[in-house]
Amino acid sequence: MGRGRPYTFLMARSMAREQDILKLPAPKRPPRLTSRRIGIHTSIAGGVENAAERAYRLGCNTFQVFSSSPRQWQPYDLSRPQCDQMNRLREKYGLRPLVIHTNYLINLASTTEQFLAKSVEAFRGELERALSLCAEYLVLHPGSFRGASRDEGLARVAASIAVASRGLDVVKGGLTILIENTAGAEYSLGGSFEQVADLLELLRDMVPIAACMDTCHVHVSGYDIVSPAGMKKTLDHLDSTVGFKNVRVWHCNDAKAARGSKLDRHQHIGKGSIGLEPFQRLLNDPQFAHAAFIAETPIDAPGDDKRNVEALKALVKDKPHTLPS
Ligand SMILES: [Zn+2]
Ligand SMILES: [Zn+2]
Repeated sequence: MGRGRPYTFLMARSMAREQDILKLPAPKRPPRLTSRRIGIHTSIAGGVENAAERAYRLGCNTFQVFSSSPRQWQPYDLSRPQCDQMNRLREKYGLRPLVIHTNYLINLASTTEQFLAKSVEAFRGELERALSLCAEYLVLHPGSFRGASRDEGLARVAASIAVASRGLDVVKGGLTILIENTAGAEYSLGGSFEQVADLLELLRDMVPIAACMDTCHVHVSGYDIVSPAGMKKTLDHLDSTVGFKNVRVWHCNDAKAARGSKLDRHQHIGKGSIGLEPFQRLLNDPQFAHAAFIAETPIDAPGDDKRNVEALKALVKDKPHTLPS
């Protein structure tokens, strides 16, 4: 990889800078929740099942994890007790959906035969672990088509997913693969709504498929979500290409870089070039009431994860509950 490797939010999400919430006293009462599903990418330190307890303590009712080390190729099998514990905790805390983000090394559009084979094998492992964990969604970056044309790249991704999922009952497992839009760097697939829509079209009859839209990627790839009029236009465009019903997850990340910069640098909610208002409009849009909103914000200081979850929850305008008489 090396040169040209995309920046990932992971670099700024080292647990070393976060105080592990599992080491703090457990909260005395359940967190205040909203009518929206709101969560954050959560550490799997000590075992993937520990993420559920962390997500709950961070105040989430949904969450995202890696199902193995995101920077390593080694196959990783989950044990039955780990999956059972994950299910128990999700049930207990009402954590739904469970979103798994695939390993960053995977490139299902690679033009290097060996790398492609490795990616397909790793993606099959992702599918197997997602099915074992009863996850609802598996988020995939469509990859880089360097060395081929964009259309060849899209076709190769579709073919790779077909090979990787062969013999796995993805439908029965209730799992949907989500294609994530990207920051639009050169050779990266998925930098426009059309490219995401093309992949959904190619894969529709093969596996359950939908989309994950990342606010930072939307913004830095050039779409306007900051001005109210621009956001309306952008969302109309999203609906006419990908379709709102296909957007199952919104990655809620503010951006460090400017609109159109193609630089993928996530920032804390409300602290970047997007600002609070677009998140407020998104969270309160009834057309996305079905979606999960998940932050992948940096960890610069202890407590950042909790603050970012709180920041999103504070933007939801729920009608006050009428008290039973
Ligand atoms: Zn991603
Ligand atoms: Zn993302």
